[in-house]
Amino acid sequence: MTGEKKKKKVKTIKIDIDKCNGCRACEVICSAFHSTPKYASNNPARSRIRIHFDPLRDIYLPVYAGEYTAAECMGRDKYTINGKEYDECDFCRASCPSRTLFKEPDSGLPLKCDMCEDDPELKEPMCVQWCLNDALTYEEHEEEVEEELKMEDVELGLKSMVDQYGWQKVIDTVARMAKRAEAPKSS
Ligand code: SF4
Ligand code: SF4
Repeated sequence: MTGEKKKKKVKTIKIDIDKCNGCRACEVICSAFHSTPKYASNNPARSRIRIHFDPLRDIYLPVYAGEYTAAECMGRDKYTINGKEYDECDFCRASCPSRTLFKEPDSGLPLKCDMCEDDPELKEPMCVQWCLNDALTYEEHEEEVEEELKMEDVELGLKSMVDQYGWQKVIDTVARMAKRAEAPKSS
């Protein structure tokens, strides 16, 4: 059962690693903007953008936080770009169990970039505004996505299943699925 297509605004930050000099202003302003109250403190460990920082190898790689993932992946490859070697994980935006990056230091809760959502809306995210080297560029584009199912559509779907299989069968199936979803995953 699919919904209708609709346009969705997608916000991204384009990163030019050749322009980053590792000043870490983006980390400072991100953590300050998201502190409570706003600008009350700054701590790069709480920033949703982090710089992989290795001056001896001239590596300054900004990465901003993406989705939380409960499982680590198999990615352990090495990449050599312009003579500099990077781990696959260096480019990854996930808050994942294999590292402390993108986790709130006190609680361990995952951090995710929210593009500095604010009211009124900012013209550009704070890290982009504070990057004086233009290593970060804010971009927007539209993508077609399936419209989320409306509750009426869900009810219609359920009704047709009830008509076909009967109430008890549908209730038993949903209960079994919920139990499976709640069961602890074996590691
Ligand atoms: S503010 Fe810009 S130049 Fe400075 S560390 Fe962040 S991305 Fe790099
Ligand atoms: S867009 Fe905002 S929340 Fe995301 S990394 Fe930049 S400053 Fe942090």
